[in-house]
Amino acid sequence: MSAHPPILSVVVPCFNEEEVLPETARRLDELFHRLIDEGMVDPQSRVYFVDDGSRDLTWSLIGGLHRGNPRFGGIKLSRNRGHQNALLAGLLSVPGDMVLSIDADLQDDLTAIERMLQAAAGGADIVFGVRSDRSSDTFFKRMTAQGYYSLIGKLGVEIVSNHADFRLMSRRAIEALRDYNETNLFLRALIIQLGFATAIVTYERSERFAGTSKYPLRKMLSLAVQGVTSFSIQPLRAITWLGLAVSIVSFLLGIWALLSALTLGSTVSGWASTVIPIYMICGVQMLCLGIIGEYIGKIYIETKRRPRFHIEAALGGAEVYAGGRLDLADKPLTRVES
Ligand code: UDP
Ligand code: MG
Repeated sequence: MSAHPPILSVVVPCFNEEEVLPETARRLDELFHRLIDEGMVDPQSRVYFVDDGSRDLTWSLIGGLHRGNPRFGGIKLSRNRGHQNALLAGLLSVPGDMVLSIDADLQDDLTAIERMLQAAAGGADIVFGVRSDRSSDTFFKRMTAQGYYSLIGKLGVEIVSNHADFRLMSRRAIEALRDYNETNLFLRALIIQLGFATAIVTYERSERFAGTSKYPLRKMLSLAVQGVTSFSIQPLRAITWLGLAVSIVSFLLGIWALLSALTLGSTVSGWASTVIPIYMICGVQMLCLGIIGEYIGKIYIETKRRPRFHIEAALGGAEVYAGGRLDLADKPLTRVES
């Protein structure tokens, strides 16, 4: 490693994670000891837990961890804003040369972090943690994930398959991220927009070691829709093509009906041939209006430019960067306060 190892900040979004926090903190502290001993990160490196409006003991546990060990800092959001916003709040608020994001349940493999740091030392600004297999997932999740990655790729959204939010970013990549102000966040695709040199590190994802998933099907679906509507207008274009195709077909049908009336002198009268197309076209129209509505709703929300999160409290120097761009050169990262 280089003579000056980077100061690493680890950002851990937490929503009702009292069951996993103590063990997660213990394992991360262990990892930090190892990384510091090996000279891979600076001893000032920290872990920042972002409490995403938890209703359990998460924040008081974070406070306890911070008092017990300056390695741990924290950020408390004023309410639950969802995983993506909590992650963003952390990324934009912590100091450090490199910032790593990881889930609180440690499903992502800690031993991959060392390889990620090596990739960064080799020149990558962004290192994506990519799952090498999905055997720890249910059959349903595996199939839907695969279908989703292929769909989103066809719609023209650039994305790294099997990468979620386990990621290492350099300070300049984080600062570039600050310039994106969208409310509808889908970070894994947004970060590809930044450019810079990227690298991939594969790892095996394990099961959540305690507690239950904070991502029910409803949240998963909404994130999936977000991924499409935030980065692709292909669905809108598809509506245009569909409309065109239906118009052409009905126009040809009209001509056929006219010709057959003129030449054969008789037309087939039928209920099904009249009513079914009406239902069908109505259905297609409503679906299309719904898709257009999704985008209009998005425009409505984005035009408000509402803040994406409010930080209620911060521990361990996280507030150094909170709320705006600061002159990095003027901010030594030596503060530890309680
Ligand atoms: N999370 C969050 N806010 C939320 C939901 C989840 O900060 O509203 C965090 C959660 O604490 C965890 C991460 O997002 O650290 C991923 O959630 P989880 O592990 O429950 O998702 P899964 O792995 O089941 O998809
Ligand atoms: Mg998880």
